[in-house]
Amino acid sequence: MSDLNVSCIQRFSTGDGPGIRTTVFLKGCNLKCPWCHNPENISPIPQMLEYKYANKIVSYGKIMSTEQIVSDIMEDIEFYRAGNGGVTISGGEPMLQYEGVAELSKQLHNNGVSVIIDTAGSVPWDNFAAVFDHTDIFYYDYKTASENDCKNVCGGDKSLILSNLNKLIIKGKNVHVRIPLIPGFNMGETDCENISDDLLSAKVKYVDLLPFHRLGSAKYEALNLEYAYKNTPPSNVDTVTYIKRIYSKYFIVNVE
Ligand code: SF4
Repeated sequence: MSDLNVSCIQRFSTGDGPGIRTTVFLKGCNLKCPWCHNPENISPIPQMLEYKYANKIVSYGKIMSTEQIVSDIMEDIEFYRAGNGGVTISGGEPMLQYEGVAELSKQLHNNGVSVIIDTAGSVPWDNFAAVFDHTDIFYYDYKTASENDCKNVCGGDKSLILSNLNKLIIKGKNVHVRIPLIPGFNMGETDCENISDDLLSAKVKYVDLLPFHRLGSAKYEALNLEYAYKNTPPSNVDTVTYIKRIYSKYFIVNVE
């Protein structure tokens, strides 16, 4: 039996993969991306978010056994079956809790539920090896081709991220590479060309572009944290079309 540090369990989510899904958000991340939409999931410590405008306090973070989580999830089994849905394990960085994630994924597979793991990939390869057999799809963030930016802005290890991505693809896993479009960070032509070079070297064929939005800004306020992107406008259609054109030279591109 394994335990997981769960931030929250979101039922009937439609933005985290095909069909109707339940998303299990795990608490704790080894990166610190300043644009993060889920800042409540970065620290592994339980947190209370105070939404003053709504006069509401929400707590995030509790230890749950994989059996408890599966029992919650299975209440919606008919919805997953009807719509090609399933469970997405997100975060934070779920691969930090790979032992519990492996156990959870195995139990879900035993119940006929498909599993997506949403990762930023900056973890040892052995963590992936542990969850390999019971993961249907990896959602794999790729944010920058710059070793420096990856390290100094996000706190990640680009070589490790790229090497894990390459290994997953070589081993035949279904990997959806997702590129969050971050103004001033990875949206210039050179940034896109450099990311493309990396992804081509890892044998990637498909990419999802995630236009910039500020949906996480209320959480920063509720956490009493400064949000570096609070005045940055969402991506406009022309910019996204321009970037899509660059990536489309090399990949089949989907805009989320
Ligand atoms: S890897 Fe994801 S969860 Fe972690 S800080 Fe970056 S955006 Fe947030």
